[in-house]
Amino acid sequence: MNCYICTAPAEYYFSKQFDRFGLDTVDYERCTACGTVYAQTLLELPEYQWQSVCENYHGSYRGSGDNPDDPNWHVRLEQQAKVLSKLADNGLLSTGRPWLDYGCGEGELAGMLDTGIGQIARYDRYWKKEGYLQEPDLIPGDFDMVISTSTLEHLRSRSSMDALARLVTDDGCLGLHTLVRGEIPCDPNWFYLLPVHTIFYTNRGMAQLFDQWGFLSSLYVVEARLWVWFRKPLKQLLKEKPELVSIPGWHIAEGFMAYWP
Ligand SMILES: [Zn+2]
Repeated sequence: MNCYICTAPAEYYFSKQFDRFGLDTVDYERCTACGTVYAQTLLELPEYQWQSVCENYHGSYRGSGDNPDDPNWHVRLEQQAKVLSKLADNGLLSTGRPWLDYGCGEGELAGMLDTGIGQIARYDRYWKKEGYLQEPDLIPGDFDMVISTSTLEHLRSRSSMDALARLVTDDGCLGLHTLVRGEIPCDPNWFYLLPVHTIFYTNRGMAQLFDQWGFLSSLYVVEARLWVWFRKPLKQLLKEKPELVSIPGWHIAEGFMAYWP
């Protein structure tokens, strides 16, 4: 395969034996240029089989308020809600157009934001509840803020990555939580290799995706494990909110903020 982000060829990296959720051996490939790693076997599963893996895996914990593979999940969501509310209060995130929690699952984060910011639209391709948006409701350029936490690592095509970014208004922002590393370890026992994780992002890959999607500056909040990508240059961001540089644990950069080694 070729890398979804930089189009360079990907090569075999390692395999992992799952033996659960209907999965056997999963092969991983790594982009020879930007180092992004792909769960090749999962990308090739027919849609019905992939859907069944997702439903079985997420159904194994959803509704319980806990995810055994991600014990810090709820605390992190609260931090993320706090950061996003603070940025909206400061005027750094527009609220003129609707906000969307894309890949929202049970809608926990959207629920935490509803009170401070107003009703947050919810969408999840594999988890439907009453009031959730359907595919035809996802109008490109319609959302001032698109939040995608723990979604990017579940996608299976470049077009689905672009579909997410395309929803953001011309001057809107993208809020992202996913794992990004300098290099993805060549280790079948690495904790992040879950049955539903398909793409493992590197700083080099993310920096390119960031540029391709037309963002200019970014903020990373360590405690919330959350990136906010802005359409405005860093200079303008700092002119509007010079205090951004002095908040402990908040890191801003021109381009993609590569925080993790
Ligand atoms: Zn690449």
